[in-house]
Amino acid sequence: MFDVIVIGVGGMGSATCWQLAQRGQRVLGLERFDIPHSMGSSHGISRIIRLPYYEHPAYVPLLLRAFELWDAIERETGQTVLVTTGSIDAGPEDDPLFEGALLSARTHGLAHDVLTGTEVNERYPGYRLDASARAVFQPRGGLIASERAIVAHVMAAQAAGAEIHAREKVLGWEARPGGEGVVVTTEHGRYEAARLVITAGPWMADLVPFLNGVAVPERQVLAWLQPFRPALFTPDRFPVFNLQVEEGRYYGFPIYEVPGFKFGRYHHRTEATAAEDMRREVDAEDEALLRQFSARYFPDGNGPTMALRACMFTNTPDEHFIIDHHPEHPQVVVASPCSGHGYKFCSVIGEILADLATGTGETRHDIEFLRLRKA
Ligand SMILES: Cc1cc2nc3c(=O)[nH]c(=O)nc-3n(C[C@H](O)[C@H](O)[C@H](O)COP(=O)(O)OP(=O)(O)OC[C@H]3O[C@@H](n4cnc5c(N)ncnc54)[C@H](O)[C@@H]3O)c2cc1C
Repeated sequence: MFDVIVIGVGGMGSATCWQLAQRGQRVLGLERFDIPHSMGSSHGISRIIRLPYYEHPAYVPLLLRAFELWDAIERETGQTVLVTTGSIDAGPEDDPLFEGALLSARTHGLAHDVLTGTEVNERYPGYRLDASARAVFQPRGGLIASERAIVAHVMAAQAAGAEIHAREKVLGWEARPGGEGVVVTTEHGRYEAARLVITAGPWMADLVPFLNGVAVPERQVLAWLQPFRPALFTPDRFPVFNLQVEEGRYYGFPIYEVPGFKFGRYHHRTEATAAEDMRREVDAEDEALLRQFSARYFPDGNGPTMALRACMFTNTPDEHFIIDHHPEHPQVVVASPCSGHGYKFCSVIGEILADLATGTGETRHDIEFLRLRKA
């Protein structure tokens, strides 16, 4: 008998296990693949963290807490998970990406500089933005070492008493009537707990059927290219970026742990997929699409290919996260914080999910805009 079972020990689930175990909860984390692994949404070494949040200013308070908790897991484990590079959010002056980043920065009094494309190129010579672009530079932005952070959260959770089982697929769960307890069935056994948290990433709809068509997996591709001038693409000279350009919306990173600068295109080839059927190999068309972008905006980075990887977003219709109690079973918490921008929040979402799965099930964080009513 556990206090809480967490299904899915990826980005969100690992942070939740740590938060729960720290509170003295008896926790069981169940993961169908390895810890970590390359089958879901959190692999590919790194994820961007940025404060001037163009998606909505309401995310900024969550981000400020996420930064504190990323520091906390670093202190707890002695691992570096956050690398500060500064962040660039850039696009045409009237585009929601630039306008939204500026709105968030101003609304929350964040330190920032507004730069033209030319000024970005002068400050950070790996960039070759159009002169007319407008950018918000924010100094606290950077990257989270996403796979290392999963390991750090799991090790901290284990040290605090959590039990974690990898290679154990959950086949189904059942809520006892009256909000009292759950039974979870896996390939290897049957477990009982008072509460359940489901953080199954692209497989959410398999375990929470009403999310079918609401949390929809989509294939993405990441590229790492060896720069012709690597000195321009180091973490101290190359801020992480989100760019809206005529070819689409792209994001990218300095060289970190793979000998290439890394980038990808949001909604790469708009390939919605069932998680089980995701096309994992990367083809010439994927690479050509990405190189078209790097050739124009990062020509000194557009050298030989170092790595190409496929990964999955799980998109909601409005691209905001879903975090809430199950509408029929208050002892069950569901979380689908992706839509291509969730990882940076893992640390604080772990705290929120632990709040929802213990005590009165309330959280001090404002998550009203992430609740299920939209589903
Ligand atoms: C290419 C790409 C780039 C991205 N870039 C960024 C970025 O720069 N910044 C950012 O903030 N976010 C980014 N994101 C989004 C971010 O990575 C996701 O929001 C985050 O990884 C989601 O974490 P998760 O825990 O929901 O999913 P996952 O980490 O995939 O975890 C879900 C886990 O559930 C397990 N599971 C599923 N079903 C079962 C079952 N039946 N039994 C047991 N276990 C199960 C899975 O194996 C998996 O480990 C990006 C995503 C992708 C794909």
